[in-house]
Amino acid sequence: MKTSKLLIPTLKETPADAEIRSHQLLVRAGLVKKLSQGVYSYLPLGWKVMKKISDIVREEMNKRDCQEVMLPIIQPADLWKESGRWDVYGKELMRFTDRHDNEYCLGPTHEEVITDVVRSFVNSYKQLPMNLYQIQNKYRDERRPRFGLIRSREFLMKDGYSFDKDEAGLETTYQVMYDGYSAIFDRCGLSYRAVEADSGAIGGSNTHEFMVLAESGEAAIVYCPACDYSANTEKALMDLSHVDTEEELEMEKVLTPDQQTIAEVSEFLGTDPKKSIKALLYRAVYAESEEHVVVFVRGDREANEIKIQNALGAMAVDMDTDEETITNLGIQRGFIGPVGLDNVTVLLDEEITRLKNLVCGANEKDYHLKNVNYGRDFECEHIVDVKEVKAGDLCHKCQAELVEARGTEVGQVFKLGTKYSVSMGATYLDENGKSKPLVMGCYGIGIGRTMQASVEQNNDEQGIIWPKSIAPFEAVVIPAVHKKQEQVDAAERIYQELQEMGVDVLLDDSKERTGVKFANSELIGYPVRITAGKMLGEGKVEIFVRSTKEKIEVPLEEASTKAKEILDTLA
Ligand code: ATP
Ligand code: MG
Repeated sequence: MKTSKLLIPTLKETPADAEIRSHQLLVRAGLVKKLSQGVYSYLPLGWKVMKKISDIVREEMNKRDCQEVMLPIIQPADLWKESGRWDVYGKELMRFTDRHDNEYCLGPTHEEVITDVVRSFVNSYKQLPMNLYQIQNKYRDERRPRFGLIRSREFLMKDGYSFDKDEAGLETTYQVMYDGYSAIFDRCGLSYRAVEADSGAIGGSNTHEFMVLAESGEAAIVYCPACDYSANTEKALMDLSHVDTEEELEMEKVLTPDQQTIAEVSEFLGTDPKKSIKALLYRAVYAESEEHVVVFVRGDREANEIKIQNALGAMAVDMDTDEETITNLGIQRGFIGPVGLDNVTVLLDEEITRLKNLVCGANEKDYHLKNVNYGRDFECEHIVDVKEVKAGDLCHKCQAELVEARGTEVGQVFKLGTKYSVSMGATYLDENGKSKPLVMGCYGIGIGRTMQASVEQNNDEQGIIWPKSIAPFEAVVIPAVHKKQEQVDAAERIYQELQEMGVDVLLDDSKERTGVKFANSELIGYPVRITAGKMLGEGKVEIFVRSTKEKIEVPLEEASTKAKEILDTLA
């Protein structure tokens, strides 16, 4: 392909609404164009990368006996009512009504549709296991679309669904998909971790998220550098074998005027924040009600909202600091403690039960309690794990210190079990002719998010540094000065030779200045650039490797072979 035939609208200026580097670069390199909030057009180079990622996904899925299908984007409300999700999916679901007043949505995911297909045609154990996938646009009216393709409202997703006879079958399939996903992200050249994640109502060790490590990532994860443990903080466990062994001292009520935060109280009393109890007030929302809950964690810790939500079985929780609420609940802001607190629901983080002689609010303005001990001074009905595990906490598997990182979820594998097959009547007859629900798994990869995550991980001052496997072109050939015929001829020759060798190569036949051509090639980030320039007088051309910035001079006759050799060594 030649640049004269391609739409590559590179920009010098950074778009004002692009907050993170990868978003800026995708727009500046002319890969995507925003149409409206969270909705993007993929331009030729961007779409080429998307197709390369999709092809890797296809290859890895087909290798594992998954079958590609294409399901409708338009989905009838009735199907979603059958699964029970029409009323709970909320505002993210893009709903519409047709001219006959029938309700529909644009698919944000396809569990309902695939279950409908499978229940219609699969009825015997002989047809199982079965694994179906598609690569298609998804629609979600995200509360906060942002960061370009990372959180958009229309996005390309590979979504797959597996159907097994039983849990053991699902376990095997899950492992196959986990390995497949690892192979995909390896081939895309990403640095990632598969982390244990929260599986909401389903519970158990039922899902892994594939996280690309990135400062700008929306998810917080912890991992153990000594063993393989890694988890989303929504789910992270830590070692809790430590128990205070000191003697329990006599509880004391102390005056702490205006000292409200953990930092203030600890400083005032000269105590360690780790030896105190922090109180946090949350509002929990259920299907038909709401309640306020006080959560207690160790003084130096934060609580995790997803853990709280799961502990309560709530639909959502948020922190509530509204004065009026606090007054109505009859609690003392800044002086809340677990001793004698019986007018509100309390969640107590388990760690507190292992510590001794703690400081906490006395539920009375300007007073705290010292030497408070669980069991002796207070008890709690709901002892839970709601703490946010952080760097330095110990790994529950091997006791090494955990490390914190941020990540962007590019893929997820999930054991669904029989949630959809039971609600939608997807059953099969087993070896004994007995009807059983199909046991399902689902598996998703954001193709656009993966493309952008790669850019977020691989870039420098000049622009993008594509891994070879997903680069828009593997190599670009540039005649330095388009008016010098011998340079144009040499470039054309190398271009032809590389094409014959099967390299995905671009010839820059534009009329731009040398500097502009160079800058664009580095902004777009082709892995290898071959320039026919001044040195052609000595029969030489230059090969430049984008990732290492290495430049080498080679005789024109050897240029394509050498470039191919270099490409073969690149990831
Ligand atoms: P998130 O927690 O980031 O909202 P999710 O858990 O809702 O994602 P899934 O339903 O698991 O997402 O979707 C599978 C994959 O689709 C994700 O791993 C991600 O790569 C991609 N994806 C999800 N939402 C978006 C979005 N709004 N924009 C782009 N890609 C997305
Ligand atoms: Mg997910």
